[in-house]
Amino acid sequence: DKSSKLQDTPTGQTLQQLFAEVVFNIPLNKLFHYSVPPDLRELLTPGMRVKAPFGNKVITGFCVGLTTIPSVYKTKDLMGILDAFPLADETMLRITKWLSSYYCCGWGEAIHAVIPPVVRRGAKEKIDIFVTCGKPLTAFEKETILQSKKRAIKQAKVMEFLFNQAQNTEIRAKELMKATGGTMSMLRQLERENLLQLEERQADAVNAQKGGAPVQHLALSEEQQAAFTLIKEKLAEPSQGIILLHGITGSGKTELYLQTIAKLLEQGRKALFLVPEISLTSQSIQRIKERFNNVAVLHSHLQGAFHHAQWKDIKEGRVDVVVGARSSIFAPLKDVGLIILDEEHENTYKQENSPRYNARDIAILRATYENAMVILGTATPSLESYYEAEKGNYTKIVLSKRIGTLQLPQVEIVDMLEEVRKKRGYHVVSQRLEYYMKQALSRREQVILFLNRRGFTPYIHCKRCGFVLKCHRCDIPLTFHKKLNIVLCHYCHAEAIPPESCPDCMANYINYRGFGTEKIEEVIAKKFPGYNILRMDSDSMRSHGSHEKALKAFGEGEFQILLGTQMIAKGLDFPNVTLVGVISADTMLNLPDFRAGERTFQLISQVAGRTGRGQKGGRVIVQSFNPRHYSITYAAAHDYEGFAKKELEYRRPLNYPPFGRMARIIFRGASEKNTEEKASVIAGKLKEIAKESNNQLQILGPSPAPVMKINNLFRWHLLLKAKDHQRIHDALLCVADTLKPTKGVQSLVDVDPYMM
Ligand code: ADP
Ligand code: ZN
Repeated sequence: DKSSKLQDTPTGQTLQQLFAEVVFNIPLNKLFHYSVPPDLRELLTPGMRVKAPFGNKVITGFCVGLTTIPSVYKTKDLMGILDAFPLADETMLRITKWLSSYYCCGWGEAIHAVIPPVVRRGAKEKIDIFVTCGKPLTAFEKETILQSKKRAIKQAKVMEFLFNQAQNTEIRAKELMKATGGTMSMLRQLERENLLQLEERQADAVNAQKGGAPVQHLALSEEQQAAFTLIKEKLAEPSQGIILLHGITGSGKTELYLQTIAKLLEQGRKALFLVPEISLTSQSIQRIKERFNNVAVLHSHLQGAFHHAQWKDIKEGRVDVVVGARSSIFAPLKDVGLIILDEEHENTYKQENSPRYNARDIAILRATYENAMVILGTATPSLESYYEAEKGNYTKIVLSKRIGTLQLPQVEIVDMLEEVRKKRGYHVVSQRLEYYMKQALSRREQVILFLNRRGFTPYIHCKRCGFVLKCHRCDIPLTFHKKLNIVLCHYCHAEAIPPESCPDCMANYINYRGFGTEKIEEVIAKKFPGYNILRMDSDSMRSHGSHEKALKAFGEGEFQILLGTQMIAKGLDFPNVTLVGVISADTMLNLPDFRAGERTFQLISQVAGRTGRGQKGGRVIVQSFNPRHYSITYAAAHDYEGFAKKELEYRRPLNYPPFGRMARIIFRGASEKNTEEKASVIAGKLKEIAKESNNQLQILGPSPAPVMKINNLFRWHLLLKAKDHQRIHDALLCVADTLKPTKGVQSLVDVDPYMM
């Protein structure tokens, strides 16, 4: 019986009974209905957390809706409400519902994931009490108050202090008490006498008014101006759409973002600015903060109370611009008119835990719900965005020139095979690179060297028996770290003492092969004595804030050579850097991933963009054993279009994105047999579905994942590939029940996977 019920209220009126739709933080996409007791009716709004009986426990859930028609005949009562206001507003409820359906997780899980933990915990807000003088008084009145017989000495002191302040200034109660020796109860007594006023307020958390006028905008270049005109036109339309801003490095994209934000703020709306990683983009964040007043930067390391206060500031409209990484796409900003994704192609926009969302897709979804404009900015658009623009779904704006008279650097590819022949052996620094380094350094210019691999050597093996030293918990070779004198697993962080002889055959033929940034540092230090080398990778930059400090020192010329991993590929703007050396372009190219070519192109283009940013010009040397691979040659020619066409040609017949869609299921368990078995069972079911699909759905696998074991858990995976997402979605729904953990094997669903 699903008809609505009636309920008696204490006042005797009869009201229609109300039911709350509640979701829990569980991997189950199901709504539960609870009756709302009369005393909670007025207080409950969707988006609030509630206490509800579940089985024989009471747990916390999210109310996502209210209804008068229950799904079951017998409903239990809600036991309480945990929030005074909804943590998730209407848009956030819509977005999380979409997340749960698209990425195959529970709605409750999705809401749980988008509300910051401090907000869920309800960190104690830092409340300050401010004191102001009650009302304007004449000198005589003041004197009467101070001299009054009943006035305690300390009370008089408090009042005297306040009288001596300028009219209408406020002072923190804490400071006032410290200065006068007064107590809180004394202040309250004076308040009752109407001699002063107390106001409780949250301590100001936003980087509010910094004082001083914001930095002025730059006069736009001709190309920027044309782009800006187009952006402004779009901004004036009711449905503003998506702009793909394809601008080479140094073409002035950031300046355009800033002026667009300014335009939007004039309309009284607010902006979200997403960056791939906060710690790596300090230079652009600085520029945003200089330009605008109420900017909130969402760092992941924010302290509890501060983070909570900031979240409330955003929610309550005290912030105009939110800057942050991927999860900031869920910032509770109201009236968002613009969402900017800088470096939209970056894989850091993809979340690695459930829900495995891509902030780029959420940005577009949120913009549709809120009638906002999206700007996807990049020098190397993702093939997905490029293809959407080709189809006319996005407006493409191209910035093809660097600002001023600056030119893109000349890129030279060095064939390392040739190098090995010439020099009879492998040297990590080619003759060409060494030559140009000498030149640049002797002219007191700076050099950036890039290698996407940390540690000293990535590979330890026995020359006699072929044994490779691997992590015993993960199926992956251990990396030697010389300074720490350890071998380290880059997956589970297990460490061990480096072996002196082969652990397998005991022979003394142990060989440390390959090279990481630590080894390059040693090689360079020997070749270029007297120059200071700054190494930046996740080993050398552990503590928070160390990036900023290191980069500042490099900018001030304390170091001549900057050596690092992808950490240094983006955003850096140092005019004195005239040479970039890519030690190996092959580290990415050989990954078992259909995006390997795209990644290589992006990385070389990004790194190349770090030079030629000053009047002295720039040069790039790319070392590779695959010098004729199109990813490398097109990157060297600064030819994105050429690359994109070639890459699309390769993907089209194989139905890889952007032509088709994919999902990946990873099976993970301690027993190899059970893991493989579960993968086979699910694959079997999916293949049946595929058979009926008339070749519209393909199932690849099951097979061992590229890294077969991580942290003692075996991993198998399979891929679903189809022309459109709906097929994949339907197939996943069909097997949803069987995906639950069994025999210690978990199944993780990754829709639109990024890393294979
Ligand atoms: P991108 O984000 O495309 O790499 P930026 O916006 O960082 O480019 O611009 C590159 C450099 O040019 C920066 O140092 C910036 O201050 C400068 N710049 C950008 N636009 C202008 C302009 N209109 N006039 C003068 N300098 C500019
Ligand atoms: Zn390991």
